[in-house]
Amino acid sequence: MDIRITKTTTPKVKPPEAELGFGKFFSDHLFAMDYSPETGWSDARIQPYAPFQIDPAAGVFHYGQAMFEGSKAFRGDDGHIRLFRAEQHARRMAIGAPRLCMPTPTEAQMHEAVKALVKVDADWVPKSEGTSLYLRPTLIATEGFLGVRPATKYLYFVIASPAGNYFGGKGLKAVRIWVETHDVRAPRGGLGATKAGANYAASLLSAMKAKKEGFDQVLWLDGKDHEFVEEVGTMNVCFIIGNSLVTPPLTDSILAGVTRDSVLVLAKEQGLTVEERPISIKEIKAAHQSGTLKEVFGTGTAAVISPVGELAFAGEKLSINGGKPGPVAEKLYAEVGAIQRGTKPDTYGWLQTID
Ligand SMILES: *Cc1c(COP(=O)(O)O)cnc(C)c1O
Repeated sequence: MDIRITKTTTPKVKPPEAELGFGKFFSDHLFAMDYSPETGWSDARIQPYAPFQIDPAAGVFHYGQAMFEGSKAFRGDDGHIRLFRAEQHARRMAIGAPRLCMPTPTEAQMHEAVKALVKVDADWVPKSEGTSLYLRPTLIATEGFLGVRPATKYLYFVIASPAGNYFGGKGLKAVRIWVETHDVRAPRGGLGATKAGANYAASLLSAMKAKKEGFDQVLWLDGKDHEFVEEVGTMNVCFIIGNSLVTPPLTDSILAGVTRDSVLVLAKEQGLTVEERPISIKEIKAAHQSGTLKEVFGTGTAAVISPVGELAFAGEKLSINGGKPGPVAEKLYAEVGAIQRGTKPDTYGWLQTID
């Protein structure tokens, strides 16, 4: 792929690493590529970060043809920059887009796009422990046309945002979770297995209500009977019951997390029995009652591991591991982090060194 590079003439001042937070700052450049039926994917370019000009009738604004990815580049203790499982993220976009009737560049092109942007904006990869350069590939319909059908024109772009230590560098922090028994994030047969913006739109109101009640996020249950667990917030969810790690199997209403996959591999290595199977709220309550429910945590690129300290229902609260992060969560978090920073050998081929 030929990538035309136009560098900015007005580089931004980089924020101090302690103030990065998440998603607040953006690097100097972005990658973009256009699709039309006549040209296919064309005009791959890296250009200064700036607003796009898009037709107000574009499909993305009206019928929600939009999806995204999220992966990270890390600066190791040795100074080298590494991408974590970037090709898996490219594959997920390629697999998900057809559900929204969208074309994508090839997996190889999307992987190359991310690599090229990280190379150009290498100075934006922060150094301190737990920080990263978060990469956000995005695919939107740009054709200006109001009839309801898949658009004919698309834009694929990648932006990069330096991200701070998710837990502020003070170790893991457990969150309080409200079990959502009415609203649904994604029904069977819907868009749940694709990283479509629409799934996030569907989830915002519940999350907002939970926050208002003093919770951090919600636990999503299946859309049919509200009986089986699906995900937690915008993360996959794992339960440590006895010596087993139990997580819902991947269906078309659950997003196949790259972190989920990594954690399952490492958990097996640590001697846990991994069970990918439906798990009901009833089973969770029973395991809590009998004392076998040791830990609950979410997995996702942004936080890696997010321990759950409390599960709350109308009229009932389950305290998990005394409201504190548990040993399995702590160990998995440390291990993924060490692999990402290049301090633990990458025996799985998960890393790709950029420079
Ligand atoms: C992105 C996402 C995840 C986590 O996926 P990772 O690849 O681990 O970052 C889980 N659930 C939902 C709904 C998501 O959008």
